[in-house]
Amino acid sequence: MSDLTGKIAVVTGASRGIGAAIAKRMIEDNVKGLAIIGTNLETLQAAAGKLDPDGKKVAIYKCNVAKRDEVHDTALKILERFGTVDILVNNAGITRDKMFHKMDQSMWDEVLNTNLNGQVYFCWEFIPVMREKSYGRIVNITSVVASGAAGQANYAASKAGIIGFSKSLAKEGAPKNICVNCIAPGYIETDMYNAIPKEVLQQYYDSIPMKRLGKPEEIASVVSFLSGDDTSYMSGQVLTVSGGTQT
Ligand code: NDP
Repeated sequence: MSDLTGKIAVVTGASRGIGAAIAKRMIEDNVKGLAIIGTNLETLQAAAGKLDPDGKKVAIYKCNVAKRDEVHDTALKILERFGTVDILVNNAGITRDKMFHKMDQSMWDEVLNTNLNGQVYFCWEFIPVMREKSYGRIVNITSVVASGAAGQANYAASKAGIIGFSKSLAKEGAPKNICVNCIAPGYIETDMYNAIPKEVLQQYYDSIPMKRLGKPEEIASVVSFLSGDDTSYMSGQVLTVSGGTQT
């Protein structure tokens, strides 16, 4: 458990799955304020209602992370409401799977724009704020699939891009006490995983050394670790959380 008392956190893709577990964990870690982001207002409202029934700490923002102008407007609203940002968790992500020779450009663009550019846009907004106060924790969610998977060239490219991007930001941010790390989940039981065809799912499942899927909370606990001060000397790293699956 990290003590995040007094901190303001932003979590993208926090209405469901891993992001919702991260948001719950942030509240348990006692953040002062939490901005949660997704594209579906109803799902966001339901998530916020569970997290913070009184509406004191959590604010919801409908925003497509793939759109730079929406991210910019959202960032301004977050700063207006909370005054600053200490922790940014770039978690929103999608899959549009197909063998590369059958993949059309829209599938490529949508995945790269959401998974990679979405993280870039939020970093552009909040890194200046973090530099100004010489403090920041950025956790970018990549995947074990960054090392490649048939049918996921777009997704793998986006997730590998996140690693190079984050390692570069870590070098730039270090003198300003901004730690930038990645988490590479293995197979975690969420809507995204459940959308995979059954026969492919079985192959994935069989390959997991622990012989079980991960739970969103098992990613959230590592985000908590990287968001707190126990990891204040750690930056530019990728933590794989995968039940023993190695890349
Ligand atoms: P889910 O599909 O369960 O949830 C995705 C979340 O991202 C939702 O809250 C969704 O909100 C949000 N989201 C999707 N697109 C956008 C967008 N354009 N703008 C804003 N929000 C968006 O996914 P997971 O929880 O499984 O995945 C979370 C992250 O973990 C992703 O980056 C994924 O790549 C990564 N990951 C997941 C693994 C797994 O096995 N589940 C394995 C490895 C990595 P809304 O519906 O409101 O748009």
